[in-house]
Amino acid sequence: MKIDWKRTNSLTNFFYDCPSCDLRSEIFLGDFIDKKLQKISAVKANKLDQAVRKGTVKFHEVHGFPALQFRKDVGKIESGTVIYFGKNIEVIRGFPKIRRTLMLSPTLKNHFETEVAVEEKMNGYNVRIASIDHEIIALTRGGYICPYTTKKAPEIMDLEEFFHDNPELVICGEMVGTNNPYVSHYYEEIGDLGFRIFDVREKITNQPLPIKKKRELLEKYHLPPVRLLGIYNVNEAADKVKNIVKNLGAGGREGVVMKDPKMEIPPLKYTSSEAHAKELAYAFTFPFDFARAFFFSRVIREGFQAFEMNESDEKLKKRAHRLGESILYPMLDTIKYVSEKNAAGEDMVIDVENYEDAEKFARHLHSLGVAATIISFKDGKAVIRRLYQSTTDRITNYLGGGLY
Ligand code: ATP
Ligand code: MG
Repeated sequence: MKIDWKRTNSLTNFFYDCPSCDLRSEIFLGDFIDKKLQKISAVKANKLDQAVRKGTVKFHEVHGFPALQFRKDVGKIESGTVIYFGKNIEVIRGFPKIRRTLMLSPTLKNHFETEVAVEEKMNGYNVRIASIDHEIIALTRGGYICPYTTKKAPEIMDLEEFFHDNPELVICGEMVGTNNPYVSHYYEEIGDLGFRIFDVREKITNQPLPIKKKRELLEKYHLPPVRLLGIYNVNEAADKVKNIVKNLGAGGREGVVMKDPKMEIPPLKYTSSEAHAKELAYAFTFPFDFARAFFFSRVIREGFQAFEMNESDEKLKKRAHRLGESILYPMLDTIKYVSEKNAAGEDMVIDVENYEDAEKFARHLHSLGVAATIISFKDGKAVIRRLYQSTTDRITNYLGGGLY
């Protein structure tokens, strides 16, 4: 069902036509913007209207209902926020950005109050799951409904009872595993595909539950939380986290997110050297498809971590090798590959019931501006190839004598 939006000159009264169902409705946003939205932020109608004009806020159709998607922050409303105009108006706020610390000491002591809860940071993609008009939907970071995630999340976990009892809550978690179309990472305890929940938040306010309450609630509904690696006094936290992250890295794992047990202070993230190397290796496989800042920030992380960890010469050398190898080898492999007249690309495997579902997902990728094609479909598994056009084009050009 497609809805054509026809807006009058102000956002406060617009209407939409639904050609397939003969439905014509007028939505009066005035009350919503002036009352409900004002409660959560200082976004005024004209600011929202401006954002719509600029394309920062987009109109969408979700299960036959109109919705607004925030592509960037507007006032206090985070990018990724979605507002549904269904039977009720529902607001699912974007997942807030988590700041990174380059140093554990003195930052943890300065940033947190008395205690720090250390959770494992899982490497996958961010998903918010909510119930809208009794339907469970899964949103990716930008506020898109991902068809694959929406199908898979309820297969992995039994969410019915949770949302029956807590319709006003949003589950925020990481979709992880190897059959993961956005970020594929192997975890021995997960394998193909799994989900780990790190936050439970309120709709509208985006208020997260405190750590203990969150874990109790998840346990009650048999839902899988991320690992809590300890709750430490701020004075000992830096040393503890240093060791935790070294061990996580040695096991090929990403790092930690450190949180105020009451969830009143914003969390901080900190990642392992192995995770930095892995991301660099990935980005240098497709060097012309990533922004330069992506490479630089990962190298900077290594600089500060090497300083703070104060390692033996041998360990430091190992770090230097890891860093250098993650830059050079993947790039060299890709140059070789393209020199043999191949196109740079990445294959991802997804579990789908039929070819149609694979196509649906490929269309979703296209709508995000990602070039991807279905390579094969067999035994419920589809291989989708993502193409990295800039990498192919630029390497081809330089190999042929083009100037840099
Ligand atoms: P951001 O925009 O939040 O900085 P990013 O897209 O660059 O994020 P990351 O560097 O991976 O992503 O770090 C933040 C993300 O880590 C969160 O958005 C979330 O998806 C993920 N994450 C994994 N484990 C946790 C956890 N225990 N607590 C919070 N977030 C977690
Ligand atoms: Mg991540």
